[in-house]
Amino acid sequence: MNSDVLIIGGGIQGCATAYQLAKAGVSVTVLEKDWVSRHASGVNAGGVRVLGRHIAEVELSKAAMQIWHQLDDELDADTGFRARSLINIAADEADIETLKKRQQQMHQLGHFHEKMIDQQELRQRLPHVADYCVGGVVSEDDGYAIPYQSTLAYRRAAERHGARFIEGASVETIRKVGSNWLIKTAEAQYEALHLVNCAGAWADQIAVKIGDNVPLCHSAPMLMITTRMPHFATPVVGAVSRPLSFKQFENGTVLIGGGAKGFADRENNRTRLDYSKLATGARNAIEFFPIMRTATVNRMWAGLEAYMPDNLPVIGASPNADNAWHAFGFSAHGFQMGPIIGKVMAQLILNGASSFALDAFRIDRFERKVL
Ligand SMILES: Cc1cc2nc3c(=O)[nH]c(=O)nc-3n(C[C@H](O)[C@H](O)[C@H](O)COP(=O)(O)OP(=O)(O)OC[C@H]3O[C@@H](n4cnc5c(N)ncnc54)[C@H](O)[C@@H]3O)c2cc1C
Repeated sequence: MNSDVLIIGGGIQGCATAYQLAKAGVSVTVLEKDWVSRHASGVNAGGVRVLGRHIAEVELSKAAMQIWHQLDDELDADTGFRARSLINIAADEADIETLKKRQQQMHQLGHFHEKMIDQQELRQRLPHVADYCVGGVVSEDDGYAIPYQSTLAYRRAAERHGARFIEGASVETIRKVGSNWLIKTAEAQYEALHLVNCAGAWADQIAVKIGDNVPLCHSAPMLMITTRMPHFATPVVGAVSRPLSFKQFENGTVLIGGGAKGFADRENNRTRLDYSKLATGARNAIEFFPIMRTATVNRMWAGLEAYMPDNLPVIGASPNADNAWHAFGFSAHGFQMGPIIGKVMAQLILNGASSFALDAFRIDRFERKVL
């Protein structure tokens, strides 16, 4: 089967890329070894945040945020996006100092979306926050979306423009035949001029088949969700220096994250929970919000995610093969970036260049540092 572009991986990056390309009239096939949105893109915390981004990611993340605010209209779907703001809480004066330094740096770079708030304003916005918390920082445009719905919304919109999605199609071999890529799964073979690696936690295995080595690690960040509680928090909540992250949905349930990792077994598509770390996460939430003492945890899970040594993704061309492109390694914050990654990958494939600075995301940045 032939197409202009073959995308490996049906997560949000693969689906958003397929959407942008198909919309531009390109013939696209997405190969997904399991089913679309089965992995990180379907099970993440749905946090849509610009707040606290690494400087290298701020421009991309801000552009993604603009898209999120009108994404339901664009995709003609319900992604569950809600702009609720995000507050990172300062637990002590050391956190305030950290925030002041960050604010200065951001202002120097011309970014004004992170606004410091004092203790009084923190209490106005989060009346149930613990008394000892001294202030924080807010990003008004941030919020959350429902991951599975969002990724499927991209898939369906891409299909409406003619993209093909093949599920249960695990890419086994990749080679060049003339100027085309020839890709084989157990059942079929596919040919295309361009190849895009959006394989998430498995992307290093695809990269090496193309000729690119990359120091990707995979891990299993965990989440838990409570039963319904009386409404007590509208903004999404994080903390400046502690592993706290939660959001209360409109139905009252509270999703608690914070980055604690379980055990990952990517060969078998499985994860195992580390209950002691989950208990620490629950204690953290109670420490910041005493009302959480009354919460009942209803469900816990983990997802397989790709991490890079510098926690920045790989976005861009293969340095070792023509017409091969990468978008992976989002290090537990790639859901928010999905909408802009789709655009960037389409720009790269259609024009050979992006309107964003991508140098920090080169796949060979680790080798270049050694040199
Ligand atoms: C628990 C958890 C919480 C998170 N919370 C947030 C958050 O709040 N906000 C945020 O912005 N980000 C968050 N993230 C990160 C975010 O989910 C990811 O960065 C993002 O979804 C990555 O998308 P992706 O398309 O690169 O990868 P994936 O969604 O993993 O998709 C990659 C796909 O490639 C497929 N694939 C792999 N190998 C092959 C092969 N050989 N052949 C065919 N297909 C293949 C896989 O089956 C998979 O479906 C979280 C992640 C987790 C796990």
